[in-house]
Amino acid sequence: MEAATFILFGSTGDLAKRKIYPALFNLYLDGKLPTAFSVIGLGRKAVSDAEFQSRIEQSIRSFSRRRVQDEAGLKTFLEAFRYSSLDIPVLGDYSRLLELVKRREAELGIPENRIFYMSVAPEFFGTIAHSIKESGLGAVTGWKRLIIEKPFGRDLTTARELNAKLAQSFEEREIFRIDHYLGKPMIQNLEDLEYTNPILQALWTNRYIANVQITASETVGVEERAGYYDHYGAVRDMFQNHMLQILMMLALQLPKHSTADNVAFKKKLVLESLRPLSKEDVRLNVVRGQYTSGVVEGKTVPGYTEEKGIDKASANDTFIAARLWIDNYFWSEVPFYIRTGKRLNEKSTRIVIQFKDPLEKPNGKNMQAAPNLLIIEIGPEAGISFQLNLKEPNQGEGIEPIHIRYSADQKDVPEAYEKLFRDALIGDSTFFAHWDEVEMSWQWVQPILEAFEENLVPLELYPAGSNGPSAAHKLLQQDGYQWWLDP
Ligand code: NAD
Repeated sequence: MEAATFILFGSTGDLAKRKIYPALFNLYLDGKLPTAFSVIGLGRKAVSDAEFQSRIEQSIRSFSRRRVQDEAGLKTFLEAFRYSSLDIPVLGDYSRLLELVKRREAELGIPENRIFYMSVAPEFFGTIAHSIKESGLGAVTGWKRLIIEKPFGRDLTTARELNAKLAQSFEEREIFRIDHYLGKPMIQNLEDLEYTNPILQALWTNRYIANVQITASETVGVEERAGYYDHYGAVRDMFQNHMLQILMMLALQLPKHSTADNVAFKKKLVLESLRPLSKEDVRLNVVRGQYTSGVVEGKTVPGYTEEKGIDKASANDTFIAARLWIDNYFWSEVPFYIRTGKRLNEKSTRIVIQFKDPLEKPNGKNMQAAPNLLIIEIGPEAGISFQLNLKEPNQGEGIEPIHIRYSADQKDVPEAYEKLFRDALIGDSTFFAHWDEVEMSWQWVQPILEAFEENLVPLELYPAGSNGPSAAHKLLQQDGYQWWLDP
């Protein structure tokens, strides 16, 4: 792996503290960082290098997946970090940064390979990209890359505007858009799961699959992000990006030796096959929900409109459920049900694949066969289980569903950011969101945004701590199905 400089905008922020430094540290422990590696943190405040390194040490001790066992190793790791104050709109500050980057490259004898990471509010993305170009920071003799986090726009128009700004300074192949769900090991496992298991490969079609359910439920409310969330809602915050990315990764059909380009291309094909929704279709296929007060994990919590920083009359969606159809050869006639929301009764992200009923139902007393289910647990636990029907050997007559389970040892499961940083360092964009997908997802979601804004879809209230509005259950009941595994 080539040596590089990691230039972090927003280095004093929350995301850096909780996710970025611990991920870099765990990559270092695994020997997955280049041997010569330089990190330059940026922020508005003046902070000395020593103080910056001490903050990083604190972040690692508090948030790293693995504990520090080798103090000398930690010290060596921290020596890679430098800090420079920089006010994003001030172009002159980038010249100072360029001097520091060059000085460190010379000290470490490393090539001009630079990764810029924008861990700052999205309104700064365009200015930073422009200033990287103007200041000469982007004029490298090696390579340059840009890592950004969602939100990639608020709708189709703003996403295009943002992309046009980034495109002035970076080529598409240089832009690594993080969707951290794509960094989760079980999402990265989906293709292997299908292709290395002939029994699944054989069944992975509309001939045998009855429906697919994708759930991402959270127990938390808006937390500290009220200002942001009230303008985005579940549809923009989760559905347009994470949920549709999971859908694409599940539904794509890859050739044998896939490359990042194949994956991007095949994801595009999934979105092209996603049946467009008119506003009338939205009313029939999409549920828009908002939580009221209730009890979550034993604690009484306020309703959404009673939360600090939320407009009392807000009709923002904190829950969305949708029925989607992929009109291609493999998936036609298989409904995909997707739901995501806040203040639900469980923190969990999972995919459930429900297989079709047996041609002949078992009959007789206690012969209640349930559908075969393949359950892929994406988080917080990474695991998989399969539901089969079995006549209980020691109970005699009745058939009952049993589960074959595998659950990974959680402390050994790498964080999504670890995998994604490693991929960005080696220039592999397989598990990132590519522009075409982002644009097409916004395009597909646009009628939902409009139908919500025009109040064409009723706002269904659900108590905090429940499993969502009843309308989300009716959506499946209409087709003779149910959401599986609701606690
Ligand atoms: P934060 O508010 O904690 O940190 C923001 C950072 O931006 C700070 O380091 C601050 O110094 C810097 N900053 C602000 N104005 C600046 C200026 N004028 N010049 C230079 N630096 C400036 O935010 P965060 O939670 O770390 O989030 C960063 C970004 O990542 C946001 O865009 C957020 O939407 C996104 N994000 C955050 C999370 C999360 O879990 N925190 C998750 C996904 C995406």
